[in-house]
Parts: sequence; structure tokens; C-alpha cells
Amino acid sequence: MTTEATSESPYYLAAGSEQKAIRIACERGLAVMLTGPTGCGKTRLVRSIAAELDRPLVTVSCHDDLTASDLLGRYLVVGGDVRWVDGPLTTAVREGSVCYLDEVAEARRDTLAVLHSLLDDRRELFLDRTGESVPAAPGFALLASYNPESRSLLKELKPSFRQRFVTLSVTYLPPEQEALVVQHESGVPEDVATALVRSAVALRRSEHAGIEPPSTRLLVAAASLVAAGLPLESAVRIGLVNPLSVEGAVALALDELLRAEG
Ligand code: ADP
Repeated sequence: MTTEATSESPYYLAAGSEQKAIRIACERGLAVMLTGPTGCGKTRLVRSIAAELDRPLVTVSCHDDLTASDLLGRYLVVGGDVRWVDGPLTTAVREGSVCYLDEVAEARRDTLAVLHSLLDDRRELFLDRTGESVPAAPGFALLASYNPESRSLLKELKPSFRQRFVTLSVTYLPPEQEALVVQHESGVPEDVATALVRSAVALRRSEHAGIEPPSTRLLVAAASLVAAGLPLESAVRIGLVNPLSVEGAVALALDELLRAEG
């Protein structure tokens, strides 16, 4: 879990009017689900929203072993006393922070069930261990994200859960805008950013069996290698192509594809 006291707005290049839609939904007390591939800017978008709303941001990375107690809190021995210690979700609800559940589909259903009373018109969290109901303080907002394309997504989110959110689909920026992001984040010149984005677009189009499309995050990483002095070709290979596949043969085919694209 990370807590970020927001002050300055992070750099976020908007694809359209998504920030306005999300801000309005949050202000209306609606929970927001962002769907889209990994590394396309969902977390950056959430950080920009928290800054706009001028609220602290509490981020929880969801996984298989996440329990309801990890979210709600637990009794702990503190200095010889047994004391209740709020979990990150409870803290966010009490303090009116923005809570972001990253990769929410990775969490188990019984863990997500604690959210139900928060996601309907009750807007309160029930702590079964203490018997307390914690009403959402003004400013509390809940956002979550998942990647619908993820191959590990054996555990589909239940429709009844998904229907508790308004949902926006987020995807890679158009090439010119993505190049601006790569330039801004890594400091490479425009021609390098454009070349890297062109490679990524070719790889995304190729739909090569077994590879995840390269993300903007990966492009920024490859670009930062170039900014640090690595030749573009090596940066593309180790920063962009190799991370996409564990198979040497696939990497070779992707290399060839990029050469053919020029
Ligand atoms: P996700 O949460 O979808 O996995 P992130 O928000 O962590 O992805 O984005 C990965 C990286 O890509 C960010 O750290 C940032 O450098 C860059 N990025 C992607 N989209 C944008 C955007 N629209 N504006 C600014 N930076 C972006």
C-alpha cells in the first residue's frame, strides 16, 4: 500500500475529456472503474484526479492473498496493548481520501465483498471485527482498475460487482501524443521518441501469438536507456522487444518485423 499526500499535479497528457468525467463521477459519490492494458496511464490518471480533487491518494495493489483485514484493519499488539489499527481502505474512508484499488480483478471475491456497503447508497464501511460502521467522509472517492485482456484473468469480476462502478476504458494514446509522453518522461529528442513509438505501434499491430502489447511504460523505459547513452537499436531490443516474450525465437521474429517496418 502507498499513501501519497497530493500537492502538485503529476504530468498527465489527457486523451480527451476523461479527467472531467472522472472528477464529476467522484464528486457525485460514484465509484469509478478504469479498464485497459497495463502501462497505458491508468495510475497516472488516478494521481492527476486526486491532485485535482486536492485529496490524499491511498493506493492498494490487489493480489490473490489480499484479505479483508488487509483492507479494513486488524487488532495488533502495540506497546503491550491490543489495539485496533485501521487498514488503508478504512483510513481512506475515515479521512475522505481517494482510494485506488490497482488490478482489482486479482483480489478474491470474499475480499472484495467488504466493499459492497461502500458502493451503494449506504456509503459506509462495516468493520465486522469491531462492530463499527464508518461513514465515508466528504471527499472520499473510490477508483479501481483492471486489464480485461490479461491472460491470468481466470477470475472474471462478477457482473454484480462491475455494475457498482461507472466504467471508463483507457488505452494507449495516439502515436503523436504518446511520443510527447515518451519525450517528457525520458528526455529523449523528438525523433527518438517518434522512432520508439513507431516500433511499439508495429508490435501492437502484429498481434504476435503469446506477446503482450508493449506498454507506454516500456517505451519510457527503453527511451530512458537511449537518454543514458545506449544506441537506439540495443535499447529497442533489451527495453522493448525482450521483455515482451521469454522465447528467443519470438524476439527474433519481432526484431525482423521492426526492421521490415523501417
Ligand atoms: P498503468 O497504471 O495503466 O499500468 P501507468 O499510469 O503506471 O500505467 O503508466 C505507465 C507510465 O507511462 C507512467 O509512469 C508514465 O510515464 C507514462 N504514461 C502513460 N500514459 C501517460 C499519460 N497519458 N500522461 C503522462 N504519462 C503517461
